[in-house]
Amino acid sequence: MKPYDYLIVGTGLFGAAFACLATRQGKRCLAIDRRPHTGGNLHCDCINGINVHRYGPHIFHTSDREVWDFVNSFVPFNNFINTPIAVAPDGKRYNLPFNMNTFRQLWGVTTADEAREVLSKQRHIYDGEPRNLEEQALSLVGDDIYRLLIKGYTEKQWGRPCAQLPAFIIKRLPLRFTFDNNYFNDLYQGVPVGGYNKLIDGMLQGVDMELGADFFANRKHYRSLARKVVFTGQIDEFFDYRFGKLDYRTVRFDTRVIDTPDFQGNAVINYTSGDVPYTRIIEHKHFECLGNAVNDNPSTVVSYEYSTEWRPGMEPFYPVNDRRNNEIYLRYKALADAETDVIFGGRLAEYKYYDMSPLIREVLDMFKTQ
Ligand code: UDP
Repeated sequence: MKPYDYLIVGTGLFGAAFACLATRQGKRCLAIDRRPHTGGNLHCDCINGINVHRYGPHIFHTSDREVWDFVNSFVPFNNFINTPIAVAPDGKRYNLPFNMNTFRQLWGVTTADEAREVLSKQRHIYDGEPRNLEEQALSLVGDDIYRLLIKGYTEKQWGRPCAQLPAFIIKRLPLRFTFDNNYFNDLYQGVPVGGYNKLIDGMLQGVDMELGADFFANRKHYRSLARKVVFTGQIDEFFDYRFGKLDYRTVRFDTRVIDTPDFQGNAVINYTSGDVPYTRIIEHKHFECLGNAVNDNPSTVVSYEYSTEWRPGMEPFYPVNDRRNNEIYLRYKALADAETDVIFGGRLAEYKYYDMSPLIREVLDMFKTQ
């Protein structure tokens, strides 16, 4: 008789949500994590009273009412709306996502018809579907936006020329013909009041936990503890890299405390020039200190983000879903599908660029069908 029903490897959002729902069904769960804290890349550090998104900004957005109610059952979410600003290679500031404010700043146009007319002259037309991110961007938004707001940022973030990146990455950016700077189109949006640790801690209530615990260092022992494993780590590592290593991008953060109540007046400012080494600057207090409340704290915490290629020993952030990596992944996936007592889930195990809401939707569905 094994002491646990599930061993959950990784306490990020997938692992925590799975552990929560399994525990509610009366299953015994042990969740382990390599890092000394729970939450994976959602983990926050509290610095000078400010919840710092240590592994990059996370803004929860969804149109899925059940997902929204689920996360709000652990901690109330505030009404933060992501309205990032871009500092472009011409030194000017533009609103994101691409909307009437951006078009006015770029071309002086003030109506949707005028904007559509300029765009129609700028857009490239290709025979058939765009074959890569560059063609996708040029066919959607044309030369000016591609040159000023996309090319430099994307090549910094992914470390590859746009012409070698998959088109779907850029489909995430909406194009709007209203004066609306909301980055997302979803019905619900916000961050947990008091930080993401409250969400993860809430989900992990009643779950046994081991932190600083490396599954791979003691695989036999851990597998002997539970009937089933829920694995949320890197799928190539799980299968001992037998088909080769998958590529990931990672992000390095230079986090500074600054003696001013407000450094940049916005949570997220992207630097879209290839000549600026960082991709964006995050000012963490703006996620939770909305309106004039920013002035209540005389200091602020900012993180400069540098995107680099992942190497062993670093934290992997983004799967690189280009053709070569997707082919390798599919070979690992065939092995994963053949495993009867291991469930693979989340960004790293499914090698997929996931947002938080679809990931929770997937876990909710798993428990509906069980
Ligand atoms: N992107 C861009 N310019 C920007 C912001 C984003 O070209 O100022 C592109 C870039 O290719 C990026 C993609 O849009 O990979 C998706 O960006 P998003 O901010 O949605 O990605 P996330 O931060 O969630 O990874």
